[in-house]
Amino acid sequence: MTARLILIGLLTTAATAAAQIPDLSAWEVHDMDRPQPPVVTPGSMGSAPSDAIVLFDGSDLSQWQHRDGRAASWTVKDGFMEVTTGAIMTRQAFGDMQLHIEWATPNSGDGQDSGNSGVYLMNTYEVQVLNSYENPTYPDGMAASVYGQYPPLINASRPPGEWQTYDIIFRRPHFDDAGNLAMPARVTVLHNGVLVQDSVVLTGPTGHRSRPAYKTHADKLPLLLQDHNEPTRYRNIWVREL
Ligand code: MG
Repeated sequence: MTARLILIGLLTTAATAAAQIPDLSAWEVHDMDRPQPPVVTPGSMGSAPSDAIVLFDGSDLSQWQHRDGRAASWTVKDGFMEVTTGAIMTRQAFGDMQLHIEWATPNSGDGQDSGNSGVYLMNTYEVQVLNSYENPTYPDGMAASVYGQYPPLINASRPPGEWQTYDIIFRRPHFDDAGNLAMPARVTVLHNGVLVQDSVVLTGPTGHRSRPAYKTHADKLPLLLQDHNEPTRYRNIWVREL
């Protein structure tokens, strides 16, 4: 009986391992007939590649609104936007995405009250924005954390006032027809070009002092920037849908 259970276990493990290796048999190795990837003109120094949707180019907030549908009222000046009153979210909804966003915190406050804002993927899953340069706080709430879930692998923060970058690759959760979770969300984050979240599996929506369970939601939802009552700035925001 025990041997049989072990055998079943081994077979299950082998089947799982086999299932994880993609089937590439549709193409011979180095097959010249394999379709060439689309050509995209890359940006330079963080500027948008040619196939990106530019969400903020420094000039206006036409692609953003408040939760209640009012036009976004954050201050726009000198090529950046600054948190003023109320979170803002994109008019367009997104699911899987590559996101580039630049931000700078004010040089004020401490702990969670130093430039706190946040990038809420699908209006639900927060990658924290915070001054984490010589400003300790709980690790799962520092800059580049998945708030309440994962501290960043390292602290790549620049001092407050300096521009910083996030490059985020997000894979949305999937739900079955009954509304049950079929596949959790995953996120990869580079902070100032350094890998800080390596395809981490999200446990559910972002909560404060809580880790809520997944709730079924649409395949695409807006990107939201948090207002935490501090004048954090953003610029050069673009998205590529995946
Ligand atoms: Mg936040």
